[in-house]
Amino acid sequence: MQKGELLYTGKAKSVYATDSADFVIIAYRNDTSAFDGKKVEQLDRKGMVNNKFNAFIMDKLAAAGIPTHHERLLNDTDSLVKHLQMIPLECVVRNFAAGSLVRRLGVEEGMSLTPPTFELFLKNDALGDPMVNESHAVSFGWATTEQIAQMRELTFRVNEVLSALFLAGDMLLVDFKLEFGVFKGQIVLGDEFSPDGCRLWDRETRRKLDKDRFRQGLGGVVEAYEEVAQRLGVSL
Ligand code: UDP
Repeated sequence: MQKGELLYTGKAKSVYATDSADFVIIAYRNDTSAFDGKKVEQLDRKGMVNNKFNAFIMDKLAAAGIPTHHERLLNDTDSLVKHLQMIPLECVVRNFAAGSLVRRLGVEEGMSLTPPTFELFLKNDALGDPMVNESHAVSFGWATTEQIAQMRELTFRVNEVLSALFLAGDMLLVDFKLEFGVFKGQIVLGDEFSPDGCRLWDRETRRKLDKDRFRQGLGGVVEAYEEVAQRLGVSL
């Protein structure tokens, strides 16, 4: 598959055309951002680690029957994926309270959430990715009622598959964000799943192993991602 013109540059990934309209190439960069792009740094090896980590997770999800855009790894930093028409919403599931939920509701970090919560956020850095509800999404035409129902169901299925996977590596899947798109009329999981878009804590010590290390200036960011990969058996 030929890498064609640059179609889009995101905060951590770039998207390139291929010789097929149905596929694009995602190139994972070392850029790491937080706070809607206000804090940005380059972290060595992060592009490679996230590319391989994401491929491993997407393959596990596909094996569990979840439709994903991932086709195959092309090299250390590039993957071939289906070209989705992205829905501009972030789907977030939380098993434990952290991050914006703690700030918004004043609950204690680490509180177990049973059943897990489901939230929608609008993808809009200029507005700080505001939380929206299903009614907003339908009225503004971001997604249909049926698409939202499917995204919600798929996100909860992803939570079941991945909570078990991470627990087997002695990690708690605290929360995560997914993005979906449409491919040939079907809702398909897009974007990426990596420690950039989820929270993972060591089960015993609750040591943070995800992008909170970057957000909070704790250091050892890529080292933590590599530790997660190693615990899951991802070959880097
Ligand atoms: N998240 C993300 N991208 C965003 C916002 C959130 O990947 O633009 C992820 C984040 O890493 C966490 C989950 O979604 O795993 C919930 O994030 P939260 O709403 O707590 O916001 P944050 O504290 O990151 O501002």
